[in-house]
Amino acid sequence: MKLSFLSLASGSSGNCYYLGTPEFGVLIDAGIGIRTIKKVLKDKAINFSKIVAVLITHDHADHIKTVGYLGEKLCIPVYSTEGVHEGIEKSRYVEETLIGSRKIIEKEVPFMIRDFKITAFEVPHDSTDNVGYHIEYENHKFTFATDVGHITDTVSKYMCLATDLIIEANYDEEMLKFGTYPAFLKERVASPTGHLSNREAAEFIATHYDPKLKNIWLCHLSRDNNHPELAYKTIDIRLFEEGIRVGKDVALVALKRTTPSDIFEFE
Ligand SMILES: [Zn+2]
Ligand SMILES: [Zn+2]
Repeated sequence: MKLSFLSLASGSSGNCYYLGTPEFGVLIDAGIGIRTIKKVLKDKAINFSKIVAVLITHDHADHIKTVGYLGEKLCIPVYSTEGVHEGIEKSRYVEETLIGSRKIIEKEVPFMIRDFKITAFEVPHDSTDNVGYHIEYENHKFTFATDVGHITDTVSKYMCLATDLIIEANYDEEMLKFGTYPAFLKERVASPTGHLSNREAAEFIATHYDPKLKNIWLCHLSRDNNHPELAYKTIDIRLFEEGIRVGKDVALVALKRTTPSDIFEFE
């Protein structure tokens, strides 16, 4: 059955993705306001009542802003690790306590949400805990890897399984280096528990490319240290060096920070 993917927002001011079939859908992260979530889904002709779960990667504000509302007010189950849930509980950005909606999952123990087989996996980042999600549905394997301090063997394993990859390309290394961020913030972003650069994402994809990979979406682009065109070009050029042609061998999209993407549909 048809599978649809949509980025509602992607970046340090809010992250939220939708993956769904004609029958049900899940949100990955809820870092934008509920009104925006509802409006974007409505604009894209996705019925909000189809959302059966929210998967949270980690407890930074740009990923959890609306999780309390979705969980406690709307009774949508919120899945994440115990560590992330503890982080959400302590977060000053979430007023509600997730009592009825908290679902605790273990890393690398697959679980089912309807027809989705989902595996959370460890991703290094300076939050209480952080996971990526690998979601299998029919012949599709979506891997979400955001806020990736560096690519560990585990992150690599799940990214290599993907037919459809959502990978962080947070910053251009030169822009960060010569930009206006204070030194401590530059260090934080570039550290092994910070974010992934365009070059790091490009290098990984170019050296691990497998023909089963059909779609790449670059996510969590920085407002100050990146441009969608620059992120796209960096990956495009590096893939070309390996003889991988964007548009022919694999599709590539740089997700915009506050503009929702198109809906991508797959048979
Ligand atoms: Zn983030
Ligand atoms: Zn983060």
